[in-house]
Amino acid sequence: MNTHYGRFGGQYVAETLMAPLKELEAAYESARNDSAFRREFEEILRDYVGRESPITYARRLSEHLGGAKILLKREDLNHTGAHKVNNTIGQALLARRMGKRRLIAETGAGMHGVATATVAALFGMPCEVYMGAIDVERQSPNVERMRMLGAKVHAVTEGSATLKDAMNEALRDWVANCDDTFYVIGTVAGPAPYPQMVRDFQSVIGVEARRQCLEKYGRLPDEAIACVGGGSNAMGLFAGFIDDPAVKLVGVEAGGKGLASGEHAASINGGRIGVLHGAKTMLLQTGDGNIIDTYSVSAGLDYPGVGPEHCYLHDTGRAEYSVINDDEAIAAFDALCRFEGIIPALESSHALAEAIKRAPTLPKDALLLVNLSGRGDKDMENVRRYKESKSQSL
Ligand SMILES: *Cc1c(COP(=O)(O)O)cnc(C)c1O
Repeated sequence: MNTHYGRFGGQYVAETLMAPLKELEAAYESARNDSAFRREFEEILRDYVGRESPITYARRLSEHLGGAKILLKREDLNHTGAHKVNNTIGQALLARRMGKRRLIAETGAGMHGVATATVAALFGMPCEVYMGAIDVERQSPNVERMRMLGAKVHAVTEGSATLKDAMNEALRDWVANCDDTFYVIGTVAGPAPYPQMVRDFQSVIGVEARRQCLEKYGRLPDEAIACVGGGSNAMGLFAGFIDDPAVKLVGVEAGGKGLASGEHAASINGGRIGVLHGAKTMLLQTGDGNIIDTYSVSAGLDYPGVGPEHCYLHDTGRAEYSVINDDEAIAAFDALCRFEGIIPALESSHALAEAIKRAPTLPKDALLLVNLSGRGDKDMENVRRYKESKSQSL
């Protein structure tokens, strides 16, 4: 199992967390080699989540752009509306196998909290979710969803009262209660073994997409493109193609109001190496190492760090990381609604915007595979408000 990715990753945690991390590492190592565990995971993905998710050719959009074909991997069609449930099912199965009865999670936009509350209900486990007090305000529909599913939501008022503070509180809860509690982390961040474990559970995205692309088009895509918050949907997609050097891997970070404005969430393009939540990674920080508050129109990309494997793929050049700002993401959101009848999540709209930029520069037989990580029902109010504020400032 990977614990380090070049100069990134590791387990930078307090001594009290070392024992639960070692216990988790051993349990996961045994589970991933157990065919019965894998079979049950695959069965739930099929019968509960509705996998496999299809690949959709965005024909009208591609023809309008006049270049490469844009293919969408439809994680938006999963139960709960995004890729996150792939991971929470895997971790809840592992929790049950380890005899842990209680699930805890951190959440920013609330999507991971909802995905965790969902599997907690499915498996009959109590669930508590830590969420920054500001996010509780901004994302009230998801707070309602979690409560409806039976989870308890804690509003965290420490620090900037957003995702990184919620993750600190969840880690604190875990230290105090690790005998009976499993901490479900929502992305490929945190101390080992989380980055590897979450990547493995999400790799179903890339494995399916690779096979579907070969079946339907007789060849691999030229590029695989995904948005990067913490990096789990992108790592899941990349996992299917990482050993195919001809497939370009493209991660898209949230540029917010532009890199130069300082108001963004582009940890690889705009950050420096540091330690956050138990791992060495690229971080948005001040000169003296304080974490900077991030900004993006898309709440799910609003995280000051990024999974360590992405930092490594960036270092080695195997993947490239670009930046899409708010305006471009909103334009891509509109384009997919109008050309294809699909309302995408604002996070996914960043990946789509990158494909929209690239497609016209490529030949008509080129294939751009975009991970549509989630659906946009949750974002409609944000999009409306964003457009309203734009039209007022004109
Ligand atoms: C949470 C979320 C993301 C960002 O998380 P990653 O770990 O970077 O994948 C992207 N898209 C959607 C729809 C999300 O809910």
